[in-house]
Amino acid sequence: MSLVLKNVNKSFKEGDSTVNALKNVSLTVNAGDFIAIIGPSGSGKSTLLSIAGALLQPTSGEVLVNGTDIGKMKEKDLSSFRLTDVGFILQTSNLIPYLTVLDQLLLVRKMKSKVTEKDKEFAKSLLTSLGLGEKLNKFPNELSGGERQRVAIARAFVNDSHIILADEPTASLDSNRAFEVVKQIRKEVKGRNKAAVMVTHDERMLEFCDKVYRMEDGVLTLQK
Ligand code: ADP
Ligand code: MG
Repeated sequence: MSLVLKNVNKSFKEGDSTVNALKNVSLTVNAGDFIAIIGPSGSGKSTLLSIAGALLQPTSGEVLVNGTDIGKMKEKDLSSFRLTDVGFILQTSNLIPYLTVLDQLLLVRKMKSKVTEKDKEFAKSLLTSLGLGEKLNKFPNELSGGERQRVAIARAFVNDSHIILADEPTASLDSNRAFEVVKQIRKEVKGRNKAAVMVTHDERMLEFCDKVYRMEDGVLTLQK
C-alpha cells in the first residue's frame, strides 16, 4: 500500500484574496513508513493531511492510493475510503462521552457492518497492546489524557486501515505521555505495516520517525 501526493496545490479564497496553502507538494509514503512533518503554525500541515485523507480536494495535482487517483473516485467509494482505508488521530482524542473504551472502537465497525466476535477480539487485543486492557469498560471521563489519546490511536488502527494520518497527536500531553504515545504509534505502524504521516510541533518526537519533512509557507522539503 502506498500514498502518493503529486504536485498538489491548494488555495483558499478569502473574500478578494487567495491563500495558497499548498504549493506543488509531492510526497510518497510506503507501507511501513513513519513520516513526520514539522513546520510553523499556518504553514499548510493540516491542509496536507486533510487532502491525503480525502477530507479536502486539492485545487490541482493528484493523490494516488496504490496508484489510484482518489480525485477520480465516485463519492460512494470515497466515503468508504475515508471510513475504512484511513485512520485519523487528532490533537484531541474526540472520544464519545457515553461510550466505553471498547465501544469507541466497535462503533466504527458498526458503521460498516455487523460487529462479530472476531472484531471484538481484535479491538480488545489492540487496546491491550496499547496498555488499556484493564480499561475496556471505562468511560472517557474515567481516563487520563494519555489514556484517552491511546484509545484514539487504537480507534485509528481498528479498521486495519492502510493509511494513518496523525495531526499533532501529542499536543495535549505532557512530555512523558507524548513519548509513550508516539512510541505506540510507531509500534503499530511497524508491526502492522501501515503508511503513516504525523504532523508534530515537538522536535523530540522526530527520533521515532523514518523521515522528516519541513513545511514552510505551503512548500514541503525533506529535512532528514
Ligand atoms: P497548519 O496546520 O500548518 O497550522 P493549515 O493547513 O491549517 O496550517 O493552514 C494553512 C493556511 O491555509 C493558513 O493560512 C490557513 O489560514 C489557511 N486555511 C486553512 N484552512 C482554510 C479554510 N478552510 N479556509 C480558508 N483558509 C484556510
Ligand atoms: Mg494544523
